[in-house]
Amino acid sequence: MDILILLALVAAGVYVVVAVIWPLKRCRWCSGTGRWRSPFDSAWRPCGRCGGSGRRVRLGRQLYEAFRRD
Ligand SMILES: [Zn+2]
Repeated sequence: MDILILLALVAAGVYVVVAVIWPLKRCRWCSGTGRWRSPFDSAWRPCGRCGGSGRRVRLGRQLYEAFRRD
């Protein structure tokens, strides 16, 4: 087996394990504030990406949940 493929598989496995242990990360779109600021004044609305929580479930955790459901 190609060593690069093996390394990629190991990295993916480590990523999923880390994502299971630490499932949440700060939302990129609102910098974790949960607010989507208007560029014109101080108005804001809840961030649509994280639903206003400021937290996002990591992709690795979503994959883990998807596999666990089956
Ligand atoms: Zn957000």
